[in-house]
Amino acid sequence: MEQFNDRFWHFWFQLETGQQLERLAGQYVSILLPDGQRRAYSMADEPKTQQFELLIDMLPAGAGVTYLRQLQPGETVEILAPLGQLVVKGRAAQNYLLASGSGISPLRSIVRDQLLTQKNTDEWTLIWSMSHESDFFWRDEWAQLAAGHQNFDYYLLADDATGEGGIQKMFVPEQLALLSPPAESHFYLCGGPVMMAACQKWLTEHGFGPEMVTLEHFQVPKRG
Ligand SMILES: Cc1cc2nc3c(=O)[nH]c(=O)nc-3n(C[C@H](O)[C@H](O)[C@H](O)COP(=O)(O)OP(=O)(O)OC[C@H]3O[C@@H](n4cnc5c(N)ncnc54)[C@H](O)[C@@H]3O)c2cc1C
Repeated sequence: MEQFNDRFWHFWFQLETGQQLERLAGQYVSILLPDGQRRAYSMADEPKTQQFELLIDMLPAGAGVTYLRQLQPGETVEILAPLGQLVVKGRAAQNYLLASGSGISPLRSIVRDQLLTQKNTDEWTLIWSMSHESDFFWRDEWAQLAAGHQNFDYYLLADDATGEGGIQKMFVPEQLALLSPPAESHFYLCGGPVMMAACQKWLTEHGFGPEMVTLEHFQVPKRG
């Protein structure tokens, strides 16, 4: 594991000998907790049959996060996988990946799979927002991906951005509006309830129907 900061930790898992995991980019694992509960975590890397990576937001501090936090390298975790529908089902000329916080995890899996494995030549644009500018990680990775792929571009947004280092203080829909997505776009969304609701509202208002949107909620939006 690697601790990016107090909040976000990166884990690598190796399957036990003889086990195989056939998965699609964007899918998740369901981890069995010691008390019998389960928690879902998206695989952050492009599909591999023997390994997977997780990106964990330690903030919720409930049973799932507490269990993951105390894991030691070499310990065994029981999972059910692959699960989930946040996967690429077809091609679109222009694709937008809209993430907040740890919602970047399945979208990283998708974009790495499309660019590095599938050699997809359609346009891919990532917009990733965080609460704090200091929370960002994988910045070198995005820069390298953009340098090596003319069809990939990315925008980093933070609530407390100072404008230095290319991080802007803006909401995801505001950045999207500046980019004016063409009519034939497809959108992949993953993140917290506020960002998800704002993006869905913007997309609906701008004529992008549900068939053009693929999404996964990490946290069920509060009702009322
Ligand atoms: C399909 C799917 C994929 C997911 N993938 C990831 C992932 O890749 N990385 C990741 O870190 N999490 C992911 N999650 C969220 C994860 O499953 C847990 O909900 C989260 O880790 C909190 O679990 P917990 O047991 O620690 O807290 P809980 O005991 O469930 O909740 C403790 C408190 O935190 C709040 N809370 C619950 N979930 C969140 C959240 N996501 N953000 C902020 N507050 C929360 C609750 O309202 C409660 O007040 C995913 C969820 C789903 C449904």
